[in-house]
Amino acid sequence: MQINIAHTVQNVLNRIDNASPKGANVTLIAVSKTKSIASIISAYQAGVRHFGENRAHELATKATELKHLTDIKWHFIGNLQTRQSHPVAEYAHYFHAIDRLKIARRLSIKLQTLKRILPSFIEVNISGEASKGGFNCVDWENNQQQREIFVGMVREVLVLPNIQLKGLMTMAPRLATQTTIRNIFSRLQQLSKWLNSNITEFQAPELSMGMSADFIIAIAEGASYVRIGSAIFGNNYPE
Ligand SMILES: *Cc1c(COP(=O)(O)O)cnc(C)c1O
Repeated sequence: MQINIAHTVQNVLNRIDNASPKGANVTLIAVSKTKSIASIISAYQAGVRHFGENRAHELATKATELKHLTDIKWHFIGNLQTRQSHPVAEYAHYFHAIDRLKIARRLSIKLQTLKRILPSFIEVNISGEASKGGFNCVDWENNQQQREIFVGMVREVLVLPNIQLKGLMTMAPRLATQTTIRNIFSRLQQLSKWLNSNITEFQAPELSMGMSADFIIAIAEGASYVRIGSAIFGNNYPE
């Protein structure tokens, strides 16, 4: 099926606008993983400036090919192997997937060499789905030990040079009721508020949450970055 990207972008932007509470600032990240350069340029021409990729070498190739579009911001949104951290440190403008200390440390070292700062999100698993990455915060409200382990890790990330913590990221299950999805996003927002008011050094209020199927709910629960692929580029992820 041929997709009119100018139309899908406008449609998504309108829906974001309608869903956004007064004064909220929600950034659309068009998730362009596996999509062609031509598709990215179409979205760019429709006004998109933030793009999401989840493979290091694909990010490097696309960023290099599109470097003449100097106002594009590349977001790395996927699980990253440490040995592939160099292209992300070199090309990404945002990193959404600090899901273990090792990757944050490796990125920090690379970033210092490259003299770059990388605004980043800590990925949190709220839903308990085994297939989802991120630090275990499934029962952070009631389980003090789980909360302390998480806070200890957050403190270690906070002191890493050249990693600039922006906030938290999560993913809701694909197949869940609206109520369950809302609950997961709401609990991420609560966790963010708790960290921002209880950890003095933690000043990172942004929330990266919401995809094509659930971004309206995510925005209502305080999302500041939504990551939207199929609603813009179509459903097929050829791989
Ligand atoms: C692929 C992907 C998205 C986009 O998903 P859609 O359902 O196509 O909008 C968002 N976030 C992450 C982490 C992804 O891997």
